[in-house]
Amino acid sequence: MTNKNTADKNTADRLRRIQARIQAACQRCGRDPGSVRLLAVSKGQPLAALEALAELGQPAFGESYVDEALSKITALSGRALDWHFIGPVQSNKTRAIAEHFDWVQSIDRAKIVRRLADQRPDNLPPLNVLVQVNLDDERQKAGCPPDQVPALAETIVQSSQLRLRGLMAIPAPRQKTSEQVAVFARLHRLFTSLQDDHESVDTLSAGMSGDLEAAIMAGSTLVRVGTDLFGPRPG
Ligand SMILES: *Cc1c(COP(=O)(O)O)cnc(C)c1O
Repeated sequence: MTNKNTADKNTADRLRRIQARIQAACQRCGRDPGSVRLLAVSKGQPLAALEALAELGQPAFGESYVDEALSKITALSGRALDWHFIGPVQSNKTRAIAEHFDWVQSIDRAKIVRRLADQRPDNLPPLNVLVQVNLDDERQKAGCPPDQVPALAETIVQSSQLRLRGLMAIPAPRQKTSEQVAVFARLHRLFTSLQDDHESVDTLSAGMSGDLEAAIMAGSTLVRVGTDLFGPRPG
């Protein structure tokens, strides 16, 4: 086989393994495997790796750096893919995000909400947004404190250019599954209370390569997987 064929076969194997992990986790807690979607976190990965996954039917990709993402979005514009921005949102990048992404998962302050709402082009559907929650009280970390989620959600739903879809979190790594589940369960409680207030809320983005089983057990509807899908990030 050529190198490209070998690489594509490895990609297909890794995708199947992740899908099997999602399915097994759902079965263990009695959830419908169709209720958990997979976001391929492609930051730092070469275009060919994204193309291989898109070719296998993977519909959604997550990127953390705007400039890197824009070149991939342009190169793959012939395919119907959903692009999620998952990195810290800088004010000077909101226009590019509003114009080129379908989702932003990392909203944590009102200023960014207002800029994205103003800059979302009228000819595009509303930008889907998730509020990123800081579950660990680490002041240096991104994310909105849990008690400020309702107010930020209110700001989001004021705009017809934005659609509030739910919550995202990146908890500090924990070794034990039981500890991972406990943190994600706190996130899930915030999520259900947000659902009580806003009927557009349907997405809980939680779980990565190392903790997707725990996140699914606690109610995640979208797992974000990089390393275990693409292999280690190059460079
Ligand atoms: C990089 C990243 C991931 C993927 O993490 P892996 O451990 O490589 O699966 C998920 N979510 C966010 C927000 C990330 O930045």
